[in-house]
Amino acid sequence: MENVIVITGGSRGIGAATALLAARQGYRICINYHADDQAAEAILSQFRALGAEAIAVRADVSVEDEIIQLFLRVDDELGPITALVNNAGTIGQQSRVENMSEFRLLNVMKTNVVGPMLCAKHALLRMARRHGGQGGAIVNVSSVAARLGSPNEYVDYAASKGALDTFTIGLAKEVAGEGVRVNGVRPGYIHTGFHALSGDPDRVSKLEPGLPMGRGGYPEEVAEAILWLLSDKASYATGSFIDLGGGR
Ligand code: NAP
Repeated sequence: MENVIVITGGSRGIGAATALLAARQGYRICINYHADDQAAEAILSQFRALGAEAIAVRADVSVEDEIIQLFLRVDDELGPITALVNNAGTIGQQSRVENMSEFRLLNVMKTNVVGPMLCAKHALLRMARRHGGQGGAIVNVSSVAARLGSPNEYVDYAASKGALDTFTIGLAKEVAGEGVRVNGVRPGYIHTGFHALSGDPDRVSKLEPGLPMGRGGYPEEVAEAILWLLSDKASYATGSFIDLGGGR
């Protein structure tokens, strides 16, 4: 069976590093992204240089109609999905809870919680044995913030990742008998463009002296854990988490 992977938010950062590693491991790849066509095209040309079959699909993970279209394209152009990485996520400006708008809270929860649930739903309809599928694996990209709570910064984001972790545990049990494993990774401070969203693009470099390892992490270090959890080497791992927080 060919390995077909869907990576949401795969055009930049952790998702792009995961997609590149998957390309080197022979997966057929669908990267999803939200808005930045140029970043998606740039990463697509890197896959093609590696000889990998790959498509890029623009879709907002929090909108089910767009997710349905994404999975239909994967069916048509790559074949049956075997792996899903729920990686797309968002964060608001650093703020106390008193100053968080309803719009912000709904956006964080829709993108970081509802989105992965919808993507898992449409992947399971194809992968789970009860639906005639061949099985597969899902990895949800959470954060150490789910454990730490991120006070005075982004408690909403931390809570969204806590919800994602609970979803990972529950879904893993729900589909364990149907050939689908579900696990999570919890990165700490990783060098990506994500921190610009919270208002501090240089956040990781600034915080490095105070981190246990004296440095932030790199997207490639998270990608290794994701690909391992998806692989047969992790065949008895489900409902579990790998923290990539450098000791945080
Ligand atoms: P990033 O470099 O900012 O990349 C984000 C990716 O997600 C982009 O491809 C973006 O597409 C896509 N995206 C954003 N909203 C989307 C939506 N609604 N629908 C579809 N795609 C969407 O981010 P990153 O740092 O790699 O983060 C990836 C994941 O790791 C997130 O879930 C984040 O919470 C988690 N994480 C990151 C860190 C860190 O320090 N970086 C730490 C812990 C956890 P466009 O560019 O087209 O908008």
